[in-house]
Amino acid sequence: MNKRLMRAVILMALCLVAARVSFAAWPFPVRGLNLSAPKPDEVPLMVRFIREALPKEGVNVLVMEFDYRYQYASHPEVVDTDALSKADVQAIVAACRAAGVRLIPLINLLGHQSWAAQTFGLLRAHPEFDETPGKYAENKGIYCRSYCPLHPDLHKIVFDLLDELASVCEADAVHVGMDEVFILADPDCPRCKTRNRAELFAQEMRTLHDHLAATQREMWMWGDRLIDGSVTGVGEWEGSQNGTAWAINLVPRDIVICDWHYDSSPATAAYFAVQGFRVLYAPWRKTEVAMGELDLMRSVRAHADETIAPRMLGVLQTTWVGASDFIRAYYGETAAPAPGVEAREAAYTFKALFNTIRAMQ
Ligand SMILES: [Zn+2]
Repeated sequence: MNKRLMRAVILMALCLVAARVSFAAWPFPVRGLNLSAPKPDEVPLMVRFIREALPKEGVNVLVMEFDYRYQYASHPEVVDTDALSKADVQAIVAACRAAGVRLIPLINLLGHQSWAAQTFGLLRAHPEFDETPGKYAENKGIYCRSYCPLHPDLHKIVFDLLDELASVCEADAVHVGMDEVFILADPDCPRCKTRNRAELFAQEMRTLHDHLAATQREMWMWGDRLIDGSVTGVGEWEGSQNGTAWAINLVPRDIVICDWHYDSSPATAAYFAVQGFRVLYAPWRKTEVAMGELDLMRSVRAHADETIAPRMLGVLQTTWVGASDFIRAYYGETAAPAPGVEAREAAYTFKALFNTIRAMQ
């Protein structure tokens, strides 16, 4: 063997060893953080956090919730206040690329079209898409508004928003929310009132999935509507008690499920994996719950066979406060306005969870 060939062989062997080491280093392929999109004046803080903190912690996926807080050129009528510009998002994309983080934008679809008295951009601009038009003045007596998944003009606009947000984020996946949908097949909706809720929910999942798949993008979503809240005991929030759970049998298996549980650590992620889905556990601000979910994730990956184990993708730490509140809590800042208790507990849990994950390397 001549020297040049020997050098090439040695180099190749070293590359293989390095690849194996880096492949084997982390216990899960997905180590995620879920944050609200920053307000425009918070973009520099977000960029700094992504570049400094995420690689240090071991985060490789950032699920960022935009909803209608992006300056959509395709539908400026749905844009909400504090919307980010294209340049703002490009700065976030560049930071993620530099930090080795996969950015997955989130837009809540079907449910979560309002919060308290505020109706968000889609239904504000297009009240004809409301599942319950004219009902619940000022959103009183309900949790959140839903759109009507059977309105004939709805999906053209929703697809434009999905495409534009995914494109500006340079994303190969979009998280479409779909959690906590309580208004569905309303008895006063002429299109939906006779429909089975599980089938209707599944139909909307398939519609969104098929559009994303046509543009080579994965669909991610929250898992609660696919869990029977009564049988599992997780209740009507973390699970469904409004007839949607059967939808799990009617939808494509290449959807990634984010299985959120904040008060206990049920074995539901294993249920999704057994059903054929890839799944993440998503804790919030109770550290013992996050650790329980981490244990379950490790356990299934360690003991299941090669069919089920790889579907247990990892974890997605949620935050549920403003982005700057969480980031300032993460950095331990106490200056006014001091981060609230929810931000501090979520930041503490995030650090504890990722400390433990790094120690598994
Ligand atoms: Zn309807």
